[in-house]
Amino acid sequence: MERIGAHSHIRGLGLDDQLEPRVSSQGMVGQAKARKAAGMILKMVQEGRIAGRAMLFAGPPSTGKTAIALGMAQTLGADVPFTMIAASEVFSLSMSKTEALTQALRRSIGVRIKEETEIIEGEVVEMQIDRSLTGATKTGKLTIKTTDMETVYDLGTKMIDALSKEKVTAGDVIAIDKTSGKVSKLGRSFARSRDYDAMGADTRFVQCPEGEVQKRKEVVHTVSLHEIDVINSRTQGFLALFAGDTGEIKPELRDQINTKVAEWREEGKAEIIPGVLFIDEVHMLDIECFSFLNRALENELSPLVIMASNRGMARIRGTKFRSPHGLPVDLLDRVLIVSTQPYSPEEIQDIIKIRCEEEDVALADSALTVLTSMAAQTTLRYALNLISCGQVIARRRKAERVEVDDLRRAYVYFMDEKRSVQWLKEQQGSLVFDEIDEGKKDAM
Ligand code: ATP
Repeated sequence: MERIGAHSHIRGLGLDDQLEPRVSSQGMVGQAKARKAAGMILKMVQEGRIAGRAMLFAGPPSTGKTAIALGMAQTLGADVPFTMIAASEVFSLSMSKTEALTQALRRSIGVRIKEETEIIEGEVVEMQIDRSLTGATKTGKLTIKTTDMETVYDLGTKMIDALSKEKVTAGDVIAIDKTSGKVSKLGRSFARSRDYDAMGADTRFVQCPEGEVQKRKEVVHTVSLHEIDVINSRTQGFLALFAGDTGEIKPELRDQINTKVAEWREEGKAEIIPGVLFIDEVHMLDIECFSFLNRALENELSPLVIMASNRGMARIRGTKFRSPHGLPVDLLDRVLIVSTQPYSPEEIQDIIKIRCEEEDVALADSALTVLTSMAAQTTLRYALNLISCGQVIARRRKAERVEVDDLRRAYVYFMDEKRSVQWLKEQQGSLVFDEIDEGKKDAM
């Protein structure tokens, strides 16, 4: 079963080549200015010109801040890392706040590693394994005959294990990938392989006139700095990546890795790809996290940090001070702020239509009009939630199309935020716990 997420209809930012927003494209509707701003930032990320910068999407709830960030992620392509966290994830018992932020930042930096690997192909003439050694270490020699010469290779434990796993014996034609140590058997007789010469220029041995058969192949893989940290930090290595139990990583190890990556860059073996870290509900971070972020953004190995908040003037967590969006002014000062605006009824209608298509729900025209006005009176998110509820109700009366009546029922069953507040006021006293005294609120 394919599950449909809240943003599964978003397939990009819906911009044309000039970065102009199309009215409705790639699941995106309206919010033209913010989409264009996001497109401009993306362009700079893709050109590798921007790192260590931050932007903030600020606007009322359900105005597409998360949707735009996800649209950016879709546009970036698979090679550019995009990490999404909710600010509250930083507060974990298993690691400090700054460690959680560091891991998120390093997950958003890609390292594209280029490796050149050499493939040796030929017939095994002789394989000598030194049996005098005991224990895990093995050594030996392998003589391989290629088109017109024989070469002797020194064998280590890994290679000997690979050869015996493939049950290689003299007379076998094999290929060895020198980087990975992978051995493959190509056939039994070199003479037979040689016959391939007659088949044309693209056969294996014709490619290698110098005798020793070698193919060079460039292998490119992109990993994040965080993955390199984890692989090097624990005895179980990369398995920790799957378990998610990475724990804290020592700063000395990160320094070593930074130095190594810098060396690879110098040698042209690696390229840094600054990606994007998206922090949703950023006002949930506290003053320590903000000051850490401020400094982290100055680091050369810093991704683009995109934040989102729906708060107006709010208390900065961990202080008694209020500030726009709950962010300290020194951080705000270095951030590019993009505001998102509430949608017009036409835009809301278009978003509802797109969601109906995504959820495979047929909505009667009159129901669409009602749902649009419901969204204006409540919230867009509430109206979007009613789509699938309406469908369940319609199916119970064996109808395929959602009508106004189905929505009305859903509206009665499920309260929106405003009605919920109203209900609580009416129920005053009958629920467990009461309101917090305003005077004490800031002290919490
Ligand atoms: P909050 O401040 O509450 O986190 P938000 O601004 O992040 O809200 P979203 O979660 O992005 O809002 O939007 C609410 C819903 O509306 C999502 O399902 C989202 O995909 C959809 N949506 C919002 N804006 C657009 C848009 N411009 N085009 C298409 N769908 C949109």
